[in-house]
Amino acid sequence: MLLTYTGGWLDRAGGRRADAKWLDALLNSPDTRLMPFWRDQCLVSGDPPVPVRLHAARAEGVVFLGLDADGHGVFATDLSSMEAEQAAELAGADRAMDIRVIVGALSPAEAATAGYGRGLLHWHRNQRFCGACGAVTESVWGGHHRVCGNEACGRLHFPKIEPAVIMTVQTEHEPERILLARHRGSSAGRYSALAGFVEVGESLEDAVRREVAEETGVQVGEVSYVASQAWPFPSGLMIGFRATAITEDITVDGQELLEARWFTRPELARYAAENPLGRPDSIDRHLLGTWLGGRDDLKPEATR
Ligand SMILES: [Zn+2]
Repeated sequence: MLLTYTGGWLDRAGGRRADAKWLDALLNSPDTRLMPFWRDQCLVSGDPPVPVRLHAARAEGVVFLGLDADGHGVFATDLSSMEAEQAAELAGADRAMDIRVIVGALSPAEAATAGYGRGLLHWHRNQRFCGACGAVTESVWGGHHRVCGNEACGRLHFPKIEPAVIMTVQTEHEPERILLARHRGSSAGRYSALAGFVEVGESLEDAVRREVAEETGVQVGEVSYVASQAWPFPSGLMIGFRATAITEDITVDGQELLEARWFTRPELARYAAENPLGRPDSIDRHLLGTWLGGRDDLKPEATR
């Protein structure tokens, strides 16, 4: 089972990023491809729309993503300083579209590469200044760091990734039931797995237990890792867990969460027959689908 936006399709060539000459030669190679982005969106053409590729650097803000299976360079370039029409014209594209809208028509490698490029370029646009001294920062190492331009400071900035836990919580005793919630802002009546950002000073397991308790009042015991998913929208990393409840009474705050309830497998099957079970490209769907099928295709490792 491969989750969307994951897969390690490119050789990231981390050991060569510091070699500016090598990167420059690679960028100017006729076999190199650039994926252009405009304000977090892919520039696309065709029907179904697929991201266009450029063969030469024609804009500022180029970042190195890696080498493809043939050893050819793959870069991303940011055309966000232009107007949408201008960016599309330069890229030879029809329009700009969010990757999550077109992901169904992309190969797993294309989806992962587009997510990677989107996430890295988003960080560059939001780390233009040094958080320590306020000076302008500069992209180095193929775009995998930024360094403060103030010599007295010189702080190195790393791409920001925001980890979040997402979990299926099931009952300790038969019949097995799973805890799902309706979040404010989600489509009417849609249930999904619980999730939340990891806070400073927490382990991932701590975050799972705190989020479930805060959102639903349910106490969690054992927590097992299942899988993780790059979620560069804009800078997330989703880390999926299976958790076992040691209490079952539910209290929701009615603010962030409108409702939470336990589903048996037949109840969830009836729900899934009429509603999408999570976003098609999300780990949410994988976690819920796996539980519904009673499968265990990603063997969890107990962490407690
Ligand atoms: Zn600085």
